[in-house]
Amino acid sequence: MNNKFSKEQVGKFQELVSNSCEILIISHTNPDGDAIGSVVAMNRHLRLQGKKCFVIIPNKYPDYLAFMDPDKEIVVYSDDIEKAEGIISACDLILALDFNQLKRVDEMEPVIRRSNARKILIDHHPSPETDMFDLVISTTEISSNCELIYWIFTEVDDKVVPLYVAEPLYVGMMTDTNNFANSVLASTFRMASDLISTGIDKEKLQHLVFGGFSESRMRLMGYLLTDKMTILTRFGAGYILLSKSDQDRFNFCEGDSEGFVNIPLSIKGVNISALFTEGKGVVRVSLRSSNDFSVNRMAREYFNGGGHERASGGKLFIPFNDVPDFFSKSLEESFKNYGKR
Ligand code: 5GP
Ligand code: MN
Repeated sequence: MNNKFSKEQVGKFQELVSNSCEILIISHTNPDGDAIGSVVAMNRHLRLQGKKCFVIIPNKYPDYLAFMDPDKEIVVYSDDIEKAEGIISACDLILALDFNQLKRVDEMEPVIRRSNARKILIDHHPSPETDMFDLVISTTEISSNCELIYWIFTEVDDKVVPLYVAEPLYVGMMTDTNNFANSVLASTFRMASDLISTGIDKEKLQHLVFGGFSESRMRLMGYLLTDKMTILTRFGAGYILLSKSDQDRFNFCEGDSEGFVNIPLSIKGVNISALFTEGKGVVRVSLRSSNDFSVNRMAREYFNGGGHERASGGKLFIPFNDVPDFFSKSLEESFKNYGKR
């Protein structure tokens, strides 16, 4: 047995699944590799058990993850609200994966809250919202939500996970650890080793995820690093500004900025990094740290968001031009209040 959840929790998970007729699997807005890996693996696993399942996500997933949804089975709420709401009202069990607060599903939140279906949360972020759920399996002592799901599957049944369930799980683990660089534990490598034994082609998955970007994305990255990255030496911080006009200039598509926020962290002396992306009436914020500085706290206090201690995100509702000052002030205050932590 592991230290991530109890036998009772897995028993309850199985019981809720067995007693349901239609299962809905959901994940968070702006889904990443771990979100899509989690919903796809869960969908495939439950279907193998003969369950009727549906997957809904609040908005589109980026193109580089499309290979995990070859039959286009994932319903995008913002694209087809009527279809999505039909599924939500018919299901009797909802599995919420890879997010800790229901507000992370944006427009879907009230519909999910109103649903009488039983609800299970499986997540790896701090401070999960527990009152809404009949069962919560949550730990931060893990690399990714896909890893948590993998250990649940192996506890349910000690058979080898089939290849087509193993693949999306591997993708989630690979992307959430930034290619096995962050949040990697002994259990993470054990899972990777198990999955490789099932026959997954890790080079193929590596190439599909990290080798499928467009030329314009690469040129955008070069441009941003040259002209739009600022280093704030006294805070050991760096940030990148991605304005609407630069997005237009480089034919920016959702997912193109994947990984950009990590780049400043490879500069000597930089331990805190931010990417600010201008949207319609909102600035999307991505934050990372490579030391004990809590970007989760920073995201909650200044950026209407949250996440993990070293990888968080949020939103700002200020003019894009005001972002640099706002970020400097938030660092100044954080350092004053908490020191360099
Ligand atoms: P990313 O920078 O990759 O968009 O997000 C990094 C982490 O922060 C992810 O674990 C994600 O779940 C979390 N996160 C991103 N945006 C938000 C947000 O608006 N609110 C909260 N609570 N968490 C977020
Ligand atoms: Mn995750």
